[in-house]
Amino acid sequence: MPSSPFPDPRPAPELRASCLEPPRPEEVHVLLLGLDGLAAALAVRLLRCGVLGLNVNDGSPVTAADLGTGGFHPGDLGRPRDAALRRRLRALDPRCAPVSAPELFPGALLPGTVVVRSAAHPSPAEEGRWPDAPEPWTGLDPRHPLVSLHRAGTALLRWPTVPWAHRPCPDCVRATLGPGEPGTGEPGTGPGAVLAAWAAAAHAEAVAAELAVEVLAVALDSLSGPTATVPAVGHGHVPRAGGDRPRARLFVPPWPGAVAQLELDRSLCLCGLAQA
Ligand SMILES: [Zn+2]
Repeated sequence: MPSSPFPDPRPAPELRASCLEPPRPEEVHVLLLGLDGLAAALAVRLLRCGVLGLNVNDGSPVTAADLGTGGFHPGDLGRPRDAALRRRLRALDPRCAPVSAPELFPGALLPGTVVVRSAAHPSPAEEGRWPDAPEPWTGLDPRHPLVSLHRAGTALLRWPTVPWAHRPCPDCVRATLGPGEPGTGEPGTGPGAVLAAWAAAAHAEAVAAELAVEVLAVALDSLSGPTATVPAVGHGHVPRAGGDRPRARLFVPPWPGAVAQLELDRSLCLCGLAQA
């Protein structure tokens, strides 16, 4: 076996007695980068599903927009998101010892690892007004599967699952969103916009529940080995029937079921990682 430049610093958790036993959620390790209200709700959902290996990272303060999804309490306002979420996770399940240390995340040779990244992007109308987000996690194993979420306006873009090395850059996200996608422009003032604002927390919580299942499916894919088939409807990294390429999904509040499928556009990509 070739040596990895990303050795796993920790031993695998308690091994199954037999490889014939099904994998357990305790074998799943999730690294969360960016902890807005939706990502925090996703961490809570994963814990409730039995995932104890949670590495949560975002030192920015909890804002009012992060509340209501079940991840943070009003008393967390102004506290660092990662510290507040660690406390919440420990309170929900004493077996969970969450950390905020990407450098301690196991390498991708350990099955069951998933990276979740949640970031805000400028909407097409705001293009040019926001600097590109810095890339502080350059040391991650490029083979980790990545579930990436991109907020633009009130809408949320879920990029298909790709290896961390093929993560979309801001140009990929902007080009895929394009102008005029619902929810990505300036918020309106009609009843639909009011309902979307009222329901924002409920919408984020519902999307987080769906994403939790997808993260579990991605982890189970690697835990099950190459010969097993995990039901993969929707989690994006398996080509769709008929040979279609995976598409990004745009969740637009207020209705959790209102999802647009977008063709990926990496034609403007300057990161050199466009997938042929
Ligand atoms: Zn790109």
